[in-house]
Amino acid sequence: MKDAYTMADLRDWPAVAGAESPPIRLAVFGDPVAHSRSPQMHNPALAAAGIQAAYARLHILPTEIKEAFLRLPSLGFLGANITIPHKAAAMGLVNAVDPLAQRAGGVNTVLVKGNVLFGFSTDGAGLSRAIQDDFGVPLKEMRVLILGAAGGAGTAISVQCDIEKVPRLVLVNRTFPRAQELAHRLKGPAEVALWEEASLDRVLEDIDLVINATPLGMSTAPGLPSVSPIPAALIRPYHFIYDTVYTSARTPLLIAADEADARGANGLSMLLHQGALSFEIWFGRPAPIDVMRKALLATAV
Ligand code: NAP
Repeated sequence: MKDAYTMADLRDWPAVAGAESPPIRLAVFGDPVAHSRSPQMHNPALAAAGIQAAYARLHILPTEIKEAFLRLPSLGFLGANITIPHKAAAMGLVNAVDPLAQRAGGVNTVLVKGNVLFGFSTDGAGLSRAIQDDFGVPLKEMRVLILGAAGGAGTAISVQCDIEKVPRLVLVNRTFPRAQELAHRLKGPAEVALWEEASLDRVLEDIDLVINATPLGMSTAPGLPSVSPIPAALIRPYHFIYDTVYTSARTPLLIAADEADARGANGLSMLLHQGALSFEIWFGRPAPIDVMRKALLATAV
């Protein structure tokens, strides 16, 4: 199997991938996509479940995503995961969008049934399971502040907090009006806070869980400084710090959390749980989560 296939490969799929055994019937679509660890997690899961299918990476450009979706059913795909930057576009390319994905404003999981494509979002529920796993406290009991709340992952997480009726929800976003718009769209109450130290310092006094949903600290993001989104001085020892970034075990935010004596976890657990939920959508049965966790941890840096 190639590290990543392209649109040209999809157009000539039987010649390019026809000899693969088991056949490639699932893939993650992204641009870039080389960083995706989904194949390392899903291929062992498929093998453990005795499913004759392999999971690949597809490097698909924004100009190609529509054609790629149209080709999925005839090429024998069972489903797909969708990542940066296609989640919002995917909403308009599937035949039916799950209400949760509609609210989250993006699709990260596609199920193919005959010629019909169904779109789902598992990011928010995946985050919720990750918080329970890593910190032993349910998300619904936490007062939550989200940095990057209006981005793709941030919106899915904000909607999940809204659904679970967390006791306090504070939305923080570099582009402030986007946080305000999101707060209006949510059903329950949500506060917005400016991304500046004095304002964050006050708000953080009464927060339990801080979630970084920006790419800040992602060691592989081109052009982004590898810095913590907030300094250690703002973090209290009673905070739980969750970084959705998973490119390293100790992201700059988690180093800051350590300095402040707070508990932290990186986004590997969210990746695991959103993937397990995708597996459940594709196959209608529980995912072999221990196999997936072990496989992901083996790839951790
Ligand atoms: P996105 O839709 O592009 O959103 C990016 C968000 O980050 C926006 O809120 C944006 O603010 C903000 N941002 C970008 N650069 C910033 C900067 N220099 N300073 C402050 N804020 C900045 O991206 P996404 O798909 O949500 O991904 C965001 C992160 O989530 C990535 O690191 C990704 O790895 C992670 N993620 C993890 C998982 C997982 O399973 N662990 C799943 C999905 C995503 P503006 O509104 O101002 O642009």
